[in-house]
Amino acid sequence: MTLRYRSTRGQAPSLDFEGVLLAGLAKDGGLYLPEALPAFSAAELSAMRGMSYTELATTVISPFVEGSIDRDTLSQLVEASYRDFRHQAVAPLLQLDHDQWLLELFHGPTLAFKDFALQLLGRLLDHVLTRRGEKVVIMGATSGDTGSAAIEGCRHCEHVDIFILYPDGRVSDVQRRQMTTVPGGNIHNLAIRGNFDDCQALVKASFVADAFLPEGRSLVAVNSINWARIMAQIVYYFYAAFALGGPDRPVNFSVPTGNFGDIYAGYLAHRMGLPINNLVIATNRNDVLHRMLTTGTYARQPIEASLSPSMDISISSNFERLLFDLYDGNATQVAQLMNDFSRGQIQLAEGVLGKAQALFTSARVSDEETCDEIRYMWQRTGQLMDPHTAIGTRAARLCSRAGEGPMVTLSTAHPAKFPAAVAKAETDQIPQLPAHLADLFDREERFDTLDNDIAAIHAFMAEKCL
Ligand SMILES: *Cc1c(COP(=O)(O)O)cnc(C)c1O
Repeated sequence: MTLRYRSTRGQAPSLDFEGVLLAGLAKDGGLYLPEALPAFSAAELSAMRGMSYTELATTVISPFVEGSIDRDTLSQLVEASYRDFRHQAVAPLLQLDHDQWLLELFHGPTLAFKDFALQLLGRLLDHVLTRRGEKVVIMGATSGDTGSAAIEGCRHCEHVDIFILYPDGRVSDVQRRQMTTVPGGNIHNLAIRGNFDDCQALVKASFVADAFLPEGRSLVAVNSINWARIMAQIVYYFYAAFALGGPDRPVNFSVPTGNFGDIYAGYLAHRMGLPINNLVIATNRNDVLHRMLTTGTYARQPIEASLSPSMDISISSNFERLLFDLYDGNATQVAQLMNDFSRGQIQLAEGVLGKAQALFTSARVSDEETCDEIRYMWQRTGQLMDPHTAIGTRAARLCSRAGEGPMVTLSTAHPAKFPAAVAKAETDQIPQLPAHLADLFDREERFDTLDNDIAAIHAFMAEKCL
């Protein structure tokens, strides 16, 4: 049976998997999610223990794409997506303490967990667009990691022109070079004279008014509102849990969180049948979710720059998907809440907050504590952590509860991606880039610098589309 997807706000047409893959936001401003979430029985879960990463990925993802992509094809796309990861296990687990573990998600081509989703997304797009004989335009805003992961994931797609907007001068040198040194006539890096919010606003406005595109083209979103990205990330929660005794023993996860995409995937794994006791929302000083979970008030505050830039957000888009469940799938109520939120702040009803608190805990970690944590882990385990991961391990210790079972922190980036933050922690060791990126600083860069002017950007894009 083909799975259909509906909007959290209830006013957009339902779509099949191919539809949500090629869509961005739903037409009513909501986000797509499955009409009925696939779930695994206890026997099915037990049968999944011991599977390789790619076997498991095929098994977990296949119910989501049924009717669009057959299992053999999916299996090939999955194999190709994870073949070039630099660790045979794809997502290896490392022990930090008696019951504290690290899930290394940085062995993909761009050294951040976003490769897990975007390597697959690029191949899914290529497959579907080849069959349909169509071309699309990818447009995305990045504060660093999404841009390079999207470019690496889609660079070989013949049916895709890709435009990444980043704030000029506000991404790290490693992050910028990972985007601007990738060759290819279909890849365009746009350094925007503005900040990340400006870039995001330009992308959102372009999705609403896409008439500037050449005839027959449409825009595809590559940020985590795209359902296919969330779907790919569900897999590693199962993988880690099975390695630690699941499904017979519950496991807990601490997730460095920004847009709520990664941890929402963990929530879905739980709803699909995986026993999880505690999901820790680890935030930096941009703590909109920590405030929400402790007070019930969801209120935007201005972004402040931190040592963990990939978590510098003022709102978490995917939180709307959780709200939909917390309000028992009442799309009218979700639409009302999001409308109220756009004009200020919202207060969660008491019972609703209690439901969220039954599964989620949270902690906020400052820059100073992040440096302390990097040093602490270096001294106690000999591991260098990137600042995002360090926020996760700190929050994991703060939120662990006795008798709940193992706690797994998602290591979202390789420390060499953020050498300045690691140096600040005074660990007396500077993380080295892996061999495939060793000459990153010798490669030629390619980008265009543009004003924060939507008409000029649209004219530029229309001219560059192949
Ligand atoms: C994107 C990112 C995050 C935040 O993930 P969300 O899905 O936005 O919550 C955390 N750490 C790193 C290194 C990232 O690149």
